[in-house]
Amino acid sequence: MSSEVQTDSMPAVSVPVAKDGLRPAPAASGATNLFGLDRLSLREQFAGIGEKPWRADQIMQWIYRRGVDDFAAMSNLSRDLRARLEASFVVRPPQLLAEQRSVDGTRKWVLRIGEGQAIETVFIPDKGRGTLCISSQVGCAMDCAFCSTAQQGLNRNLDVAEIVAQVWFAAKALGGDFQNERVISNVVFMGMGEPLANYGALIPAIRILQDDFGFGLSKRRVTVSTSGLVPFIDRLREAVDTALAISLHAPDDTLRNELVPINRKYPLAELMDACRRYTAGRDHKMHVVYEYVMLDGVNDSPALARDLARLLGGMPAKVNLIPFNPFPQTRFRRSRPEAIEAFAGVLRGKNILATTRRTRGEDIDAACGQLVGKVLNKQKRRLSDIPVRVA
Ligand code: SF4
Repeated sequence: MSSEVQTDSMPAVSVPVAKDGLRPAPAASGATNLFGLDRLSLREQFAGIGEKPWRADQIMQWIYRRGVDDFAAMSNLSRDLRARLEASFVVRPPQLLAEQRSVDGTRKWVLRIGEGQAIETVFIPDKGRGTLCISSQVGCAMDCAFCSTAQQGLNRNLDVAEIVAQVWFAAKALGGDFQNERVISNVVFMGMGEPLANYGALIPAIRILQDDFGFGLSKRRVTVSTSGLVPFIDRLREAVDTALAISLHAPDDTLRNELVPINRKYPLAELMDACRRYTAGRDHKMHVVYEYVMLDGVNDSPALARDLARLLGGMPAKVNLIPFNPFPQTRFRRSRPEAIEAFAGVLRGKNILATTRRTRGEDIDAACGQLVGKVLNKQKRRLSDIPVRVA
């Protein structure tokens, strides 16, 4: 989901790469990248090489709490174990291809993911929090009409290591303490890709983000944003405890079919039922966040705001209105500020919590996915090419 990162289309200000002391781990053919293993998998791997399972906890702490990617620096491990780790495993962060920095503190990294492929990861600092927006796929097949990433089509899913390593990379690049002075307080799956279409990698990645020996992020500080893959919303609820955001953008099926084509497969009635199930019976108060990109003359009328209020009435919901960020070849325009305010006013008048997202990083790049799209060729695959099914 790319709607978190709505930055205005201004001339990009790039800074040279590789200034952060980040280095790719040495290539080791056949070696397992430890970023890809949650605690259970790591324990199994260690049992396989005759090591005690609790070694997994120690090594996770080195990687995620202390930011160490070099086995030689893991000083409480024996020399023999370090040698055996080096023979079988790597801790390999992604390679930085490009970086942009905004005067407001927003930072955008383009990370190399295999040969000729790249993804974007964005850090957005705010009062008392730092949100990292990460990618789950290279490109996206969901074909949302207003989305820059959709222009690229889907290239492939990221694996667990490629998802988790974005957070490690960003924490390192931001220079924070991995334990006490956390710069990254929240992680949102709103970068390139539909995370629930990569469910198999998403779940172990979330487990690592939330593990006390991993990044230790609390339940509400990890958000999965989906365009509405209904069966996977139910599965997500069973597997992990995270915040949920829905890329909604329209209050009726006719308009949503046009803006978010997955709606033709899982219409609003099914999606809303899935959202009710997601929040039902939680032991903590939970809202689903509904993202609504404001498109001039398309979905921003007061009448549609009233329809939206009716749709969400009685549900634990928060609406996040997102001023559209234009990109080349788009047919949409950003709603006028007064239209956005009027829309929000209608929602609030109906007791729906509504906020308008501030645009961030206005002096750097454009919409999520656009920078990568400029530099890499995509092998286009779209929604109609890819069967969406529960594995
Ligand atoms: S096309 Fe993909 S990345 Fe873009 S908004 Fe839709 S689901 Fe998100």
